[in-house]
Amino acid sequence: TPLVGLRNVSKRFANGTLALQGMSLDIGEHDFISFLGPSGCGKSTALRLIAGLTRLSSGDMHWSGAATSATKGGKTDRDLGFVFQEPTLMPWAKVFDNVWLPLKLAGTSRDAAAPVVKQALEMVGLSRFADVYPRELSGGMKMRVSIARALVTHPRLLLMDEPFAALDEMTRIKLNNDLLAIWREHRFSVVFVTHSVYESVYLSNRIVVMAARPGRVIDEIRIDEPYPRG
Ligand code: ADP
Ligand code: ADP
Repeated sequence: TPLVGLRNVSKRFANGTLALQGMSLDIGEHDFISFLGPSGCGKSTALRLIAGLTRLSSGDMHWSGAATSATKGGKTDRDLGFVFQEPTLMPWAKVFDNVWLPLKLAGTSRDAAAPVVKQALEMVGLSRFADVYPRELSGGMKMRVSIARALVTHPRLLLMDEPFAALDEMTRIKLNNDLLAIWREHRFSVVFVTHSVYESVYLSNRIVVMAARPGRVIDEIRIDEPYPRG
């Protein structure tokens, strides 16, 4: 069974906007899926529906075979990490404590979490920055902290909403490469929202192409052997 299944999912916001119409999609183990499309085509909405950050208006969503109630807002039963375009780090907390947060919320003490937090920082190349504050970091490094925080619980699914769009080109290329390397090693599934054709082709094995008014899927492109990934 797929990790997540969407069946004919639609989302209409309270103001009447039909943000997403009739979306069906299976997210498999170790998929790297891009949602590609112009602004306003419902990419973020689809991602937030999967994360449980917003409720679907009609259709069904399944997590590892188990139906998630459309009316349930919480994401407690969803094994995922989320990376926003803004790294949303706590400015008063050191890098270590920012990455610890999801474990802390799950009841893990700082000491008990330390090895896992260190591992996560190592994964994104920031071992030496555990004790600094976010303001001391570049935009790319803040994004790396945000990725470490999303992955520190070893979720089966990583959701990323235009994570690198605000970064300069070189930083973005480095992060694309490092994200691929991390994904290859740790084998979680990814859904990556972007309006960059380059990013979608470079990163993903499935490109879900979307169009606006109303937001909907118009095509899916499967890439067997994407960019040279070795
Ligand atoms: P994308 O991520 O592809 O740019 P979004 O999912 O953010 O698109 O938005 C899809 C459509 O839904 C857009 O027309 C947007 O203006 C609208 N929309 C997004 N969020 C809300 C909201 N909270 N209330 C009303 N309309 C919204
Ligand atoms: P990245 O592409 O990894 O986000 P940058 O291009 O911003 O990183 O910076 C390149 C390197 O410069 C970083 O990996 C880090 O080693 C170093 N660096 C950047 N900002 C700082 C800082 N505030 N203190 C120490 N080293 C830094």
